[in-house]
Parts: sequence; structure tokens; C-alpha cells
Amino acid sequence: MREIDIAVVGAGPAGLMAAAHAAEMGAKVLLMERSQALGGQLVKQTHKFFGSRQEYAGERGFEIARKLMDRIENQPNITIWKNATTLGYYPDGVMTVKKDEKFHTLKPRKIIMATGASEKTLAFPNNDLPGIYGAGAVQTLMNVYGVMPAKRVLMVGAGNIGVIVAYQLLQAGVEVAAIIEAAPKIGGYWVHASKIQRCGVPILTGHTIKHAHGTDCLEGVTVCRLDEKWAMIPGTDAYFEVDGLCLAVGLSPLTELLWQAGCKMEFVAELGGYVPWRNADLLTTHNNIYVAGDVAGVEEASAAMVEGKLAGLAAAFSLNYQTEKFAAEYHEAKSQLNALRAGPVSAKVCSGLCKVMLGEAI
Ligand SMILES: Cc1cc2nc3c(=O)[nH]c(=O)nc-3n(C[C@H](O)[C@H](O)[C@H](O)COP(=O)(O)OP(=O)(O)OC[C@H]3O[C@@H](n4cnc5c(N)ncnc54)[C@H](O)[C@@H]3O)c2cc1C
Repeated sequence: MREIDIAVVGAGPAGLMAAAHAAEMGAKVLLMERSQALGGQLVKQTHKFFGSRQEYAGERGFEIARKLMDRIENQPNITIWKNATTLGYYPDGVMTVKKDEKFHTLKPRKIIMATGASEKTLAFPNNDLPGIYGAGAVQTLMNVYGVMPAKRVLMVGAGNIGVIVAYQLLQAGVEVAAIIEAAPKIGGYWVHASKIQRCGVPILTGHTIKHAHGTDCLEGVTVCRLDEKWAMIPGTDAYFEVDGLCLAVGLSPLTELLWQAGCKMEFVAELGGYVPWRNADLLTTHNNIYVAGDVAGVEEASAAMVEGKLAGLAAAFSLNYQTEKFAAEYHEAKSQLNALRAGPVSAKVCSGLCKVMLGEAI
């Protein structure tokens, strides 16, 4: 049984920042990541990020991942476990982890869950044909492994992920037949949507997918128009001959470990699904479990990084670790989060957060 100060589960932007800040306060941290690479979603993101300079705006996702990794690489208080999946957390405070085909048990004093989110999918006939992917899978194939996912793709979803991945497909030499979107308007930033339209890709709002066609793999897709009540309008079918269908229809927080730990959970549509109740320091209703990043509500890497910083500082402080710069860094993290969420784009996230907020802690 390994006893540690803080276990951080997940090494995306939230987990990396949490580990860095807790370790800089003096806590002994074990950072666990189920895949071979650190960085989470960032490693497959080749576009330049928005936001403020403090959160690396203007830099590409994989470059940001590298900077965060540099920050923790030589930090003596951090042990990094790659290929390490946290499997369970039990009432006696024991955590089970599978690492390189071996099982380990740990007893961390505090835990920061930073497991991110998983892709949502859609139900329609033949949705299991090879050639139908989530947008994250397409990004991984193209941008991490250099594999072209298809020759001609129909994208479903005109939020940021849909329009960004559609542009990346074009950059990789894939033809994008169209983007369809069930909502009456485009959800992604106009700068991304305009760029893709200038490349000649139509964005069809008020459309949904009706049927995928093919025997061994995808050969085509039928779409149709939706009325104002989101019902399919008969006689509006259109057929696209494609060998790839990419679903960019949202993410839902990966909260299984929080359910198992007995954290109080709530369904909040604005945050992507079930999320934990938490206080202003990201402490859940479980005394030892903090959350940070998309697991606490689907947002952006910028918010994930600042939440990681805040959770890392708060968790280390709760174990009586202190540094001279603690108060300044703690208040800086809070004002960074407020600034990030101040604009109209974040109004939806803010209304969701109000539904699961427990109040101040430190
Ligand atoms: C196409 C696309 C474009 C985007 N563009 C932007 C942008 O321009 N600007 C921006 O700010 N954000 C952007 N985002 C959002 C951003 O990528 C995410 O909000 C951010 O990565 C969330 O960080 P996270 O650390 O919470 O989760 P993740 O990055 O998902 O990391 C979670 C990590 O936890 C690991 N994990 C999960 N479960 C376990 C377990 N049981 N045990 C061990 N490890 C586990 C996962 O393998 C993963 O590495 C974009 C997202 C996508 C998909």
C-alpha cells in the first residue's frame, strides 16, 4: 500500500497544472495518466488557441502540452505514472490502479480528479459502420498518428470542435462534403466557421442525420431538414456519398470515479451532463476529493488549466503545506477564472456552475 499526499488522476491540462502547483507548495504528488503520453486532448490539437496570454493564447495545443510537461519534468515532488488507469476508489480511502498490466493499491490523503470528458454519439440506423467516428478519434488518427481517416467526410455538428476538425481534415487533404447542424444557427466561433465556408464547405443548419448506408463500411449518408420543433420534415432528404462521417456533437464529463466515491452529483445540461457539486476551491462533497477541468463541466483548456492550478493549491494547503507566494497565486487563480468566464460566450457555463456551487472554502 503506497501512501502519498496527493493523487492526481489524468494528465491533461487540468491534471498537469494541478500536479505542478501542489508539488511547488511542497506536497508529494503522484500523477497518473491512462495513456502513454501526457497532455490529454492538447496533444492532438494543431490549431492556435484563443484566450489570454496567461493561458497560452496564440499557441498550438500540442505546444502548450509541451510547456506544461516541461514544468513538471524535473519537479522532485512529482512521480509520474503513464499507462496507469485509476480503476476504483473505495470507502476506506483506497484507490486501485492498473499500471503496465500490474495492479496497485494506494492510499492518497487527497485526490484531484482531472479525468476530462468523453465524446457523445448519435443514434441512427447503421451508426456502427466502419468509417463513422467521433471528432476526437479523427483528430487522434490524423494529428497524432498521421493516418487519413477517409477520402470524403460529412461532419455532424457546427460547434467549435466540428468546424475546427473540419478545417484540419481539409488541411490533411480530405474532402469535406458539408457540415450539418441540427440547431438553427452555428454554435462555433465565427472566425472558425467563416474560414471553413471560405474554403467552399457549406454549413447546413437545421439538418440532421437520418440513415447511414453501406455493407462492410460506410458508403453514404442520408440527411434531412428539421422543423422548429426539431422534427424531421418529410420530403427533404438529401444523399451524400461519403466514406467518412465525423460526429462532433458534444462531450460529457467522465465522472465514474466520482460516482463511486459517493460525491453528490447533478445533471447540468450547460456543463455537458452529470457533474459534481463543488465549492469555490473545487472541493467536492467528499472531503478528500477535488475536481478540475472538463470532469467538473465541459469548458475549455484555458479554464481547465486555471482550475487545475486552483485545485492543486487548495489541496496542498489543506494538508498544511504553505509557501510565501500561496496567497498571491490563490487569488490570481480566482481572478483568472473570473476573467475567463466574464464574456458572453461563457454565459451558459456560468449559469450551469451556479447550479452546483457550494460556496467559499479557504
Ligand atoms: C477539437 C477541439 C478543439 C479545442 N479547442 C480549444 C481551444 O481552442 N481552446 C481551448 O481552451 N480549449 C479547446 N478545446 C477544449 C480542451 O481541449 C479541453 O477543454 C481540455 O483538454 C480539458 O482538459 P482536461 O485536463 O480537463 O481533460 P483532458 O485534456 O481530456 O485530459 C484528461 C486526461 O485524463 C486521462 N484519464 C481519464 N480517465 C482516467 C483514469 N481513470 N485514469 C487515468 N487517467 C485517466 C485521459 O487519458 C486524459 O489524458 C478543444 C477541444 C477539442 C476536442
